[in-house]
Amino acid sequence: MSYSESNIFAQILRGEIPNETVFEDTEILAFRDIRPQAPIHVLVIPKGEYESFDDFTLEAEPDVVGRFFKKVGEIARQLQIDNEGYRLIANIGKNGGQEVPHFHMHICGGRSLGKMLQS
Ligand code: 5GP
Repeated sequence: MSYSESNIFAQILRGEIPNETVFEDTEILAFRDIRPQAPIHVLVIPKGEYESFDDFTLEAEPDVVGRFFKKVGEIARQLQIDNEGYRLIANIGKNGGQEVPHFHMHICGGRSLGKMLQS
């Protein structure tokens, strides 16, 4: 798979599709999921062109990867879900059920999320 500039998150990054931003800096955009699966459901994406977690951790510089994950934690604290707890999800590829081929972390919280996997 090679990065497709037509994917929906690339369109969001170019400002072609609106989003409900909760955080943005030069490297990262975090915005609310359009079909939330929990009271808090935020997607965090790097602005660089990485199609998946695998691609991101393979190709991005270690300090970029490190800053991304530090920022995910910071955003969760900003959303005030750190005390009660939350779940991070990265779906990767076909078996992972990834729909949008631009790497993203889901931050889900605001209620008890139950078992980790459902068939
Ligand atoms: P994936 O299955 O790839 O891990 O998750 C993709 C997520 O993107 C889904 O939770 C879906 O609801 C969300 N999504 C898809 N299209 C849009 C959109 O146009 N705007 C926003 N905010 N979220 C979207």
